[in-house]
Amino acid sequence: MRNQTRREFLKSIGFAAASAPVLSILQGCASAGQRQKAKGKQSNIVVIISDDMGYADIGCHGCRDIATPNIDSIAQNGVRFTNGYVSCPVCSPTRAGLITGRYQQRFGHEYNTGPPPGGQREHVGLPLTEVTIADVLKSAGYVTGAVGKWHLGLSPHFHPFKRGFDEFFGFLHGNHSFIDAGLGTFNPILRGTEPVDEKEYLTDAFSREAVAFVERHHDEPFFLYLAYNAVHTPMQAPQRYKDSFKHITNQKRRIYAGMLTAMDEGIGKLLAKLRELNLEEDTLLFFINDNGGPTGANASRNDPLRATKGTMYEGGVRVPFMVQWPGRLKAGRVYHNPVIALDILPTAAAAAGAVAFGGNRKLDGVNLLPYLTGKKKTLPHQTLCWRSGRNHAVRKQNFKLVKMGDETGLFDLSSDVGESKDLKAEKPDVLKEMEKSYEKWNSQMIEPVWTVQRRKQRPTRKKKKT
Ligand code: CA
Repeated sequence: MRNQTRREFLKSIGFAAASAPVLSILQGCASAGQRQKAKGKQSNIVVIISDDMGYADIGCHGCRDIATPNIDSIAQNGVRFTNGYVSCPVCSPTRAGLITGRYQQRFGHEYNTGPPPGGQREHVGLPLTEVTIADVLKSAGYVTGAVGKWHLGLSPHFHPFKRGFDEFFGFLHGNHSFIDAGLGTFNPILRGTEPVDEKEYLTDAFSREAVAFVERHHDEPFFLYLAYNAVHTPMQAPQRYKDSFKHITNQKRRIYAGMLTAMDEGIGKLLAKLRELNLEEDTLLFFINDNGGPTGANASRNDPLRATKGTMYEGGVRVPFMVQWPGRLKAGRVYHNPVIALDILPTAAAAAGAVAFGGNRKLDGVNLLPYLTGKKKTLPHQTLCWRSGRNHAVRKQNFKLVKMGDETGLFDLSSDVGESKDLKAEKPDVLKEMEKSYEKWNSQMIEPVWTVQRRKQRPTRKKKKT
């Protein structure tokens, strides 16, 4: 991809007939030399995503049995979002939203990807019509790297190399063993497109690769997308990470603590490398988790939020979310207005000075920088919506309507963050307004491109013992 011509790159991201401004931006992406030249005007961008972490499982959210000093340091050095959301309560659709800045239902990426029945994989992945954050930043002259879990399609045409990334180290599926990560599986660890026999604990390997990416590209503008599969199942942690958690009697949570510690320490190594190379001030760095904790599967905790991963309650979609950019954003700020992972792309693009978003595509995310610097005092989003099959939710200011199966609930999050008191009988006018808002949003979305990928449909998984 690094050798791809500008014309080929334009074509690959749907700019076959790009406008003059787009062309002028893309002229900056042809070589490392040109990227170096641009340095000084463009900050680096880093997006770190954890997988299936509980809302309550970081120190700055009140966790007491597991220390997360490095994740907490991002909030201390920057801004912590108390009402930070993802656009879906499961892995792949959240990533599709984050990486495009658009509600994933606009392009039918409503469910997880995976091998569908019959092995017809060609249409199951982030639609090729979409432009990614890597496309946008690459077009602005950045070198782009993805490390970790992809989960946006298994077929070659969905590979990160086809979606704006120059480099990739990780796996394509939705989860992976952390210990026997070697060759010969249906879902190998890849460097680029080649399987590698990885020996290191996978979380440590991803941290190693993230640090190496920064070292390789410290003298040019870079974008690093670091998607840990920690702390998703399988529950596996080396002894050295579990040893300090003998006070945790629940065996599953003890392993979880070890997995989380490995990720936190890896993030610490990345932050230390940025400091060592004198890049910290000039790097916009986000940390976000991809969906609420599946408390039964990995012993994560979401309190005080209701429910878990897979639901439209706050425990499914409200996540740890923070950003630091020491050169530009004040340290230690807590921001309470609702924000969403869709905001990462436009914020990063603004920081990079990129304006090429892909023709007439509507972005649902907003550039958060004016809100975080205090220039804008209004809400970044009047309304946020979620849909996954027959379940949906809408948040408008402090009210939230949740529809899970046959149950409907209306909650006031300003006084009831745990969504325990249903107000729909008490506030029929609010209920009506919320339903109207949802229908307006829903009318702009399309039907899912593929159906839900159920575990029993996946041919590569062993049947669970009952
Ligand atoms: Ca997840």
